[in-house]
Amino acid sequence: MGARLGPEAIRELEPLNRLLARDEVYGQIVSRNATSDGESISGLAFVADRRWRSADSLLLPLAKVMADLVTTVDFTQIKGCEWHTCTLLFVDTTRGQIRRWCSMAVCGNRAKQATHRERSPRSSKTKQLLERR
Ligand SMILES: [Zn+2]
Repeated sequence: MGARLGPEAIRELEPLNRLLARDEVYGQIVSRNATSDGESISGLAFVADRRWRSADSLLLPLAKVMADLVTTVDFTQIKGCEWHTCTLLFVDTTRGQIRRWCSMAVCGNRAKQATHRERSPRSSKTKQLLERR
């Protein structure tokens, strides 16, 4: 997180490479759905599919996504969510690298609500002071 991945990272990625080597992806030519791409040259399309021989093969699409991530994302843009109980990481592609939350809808809103509660006259600190009297 926060540092570029160099060629030396390949050693740590060896378990991922072993998993990727087990994949049984194959391609098929299928008729193209006319409604999805009306301006295509051909009525046929090449699509990738996979043999699902065991429950372990469910890991293979995840391994592929992880491989895409480590080969295409600038790890200097990886950040940890700032919400205190959240453990998620995200890629900050905002100008100025100002993103703070994994999701504005979840952790961002929790932070906004916490800030609002602290600023409201009936904040928990105020309630504690009133209860002491
Ligand atoms: Zn979060």
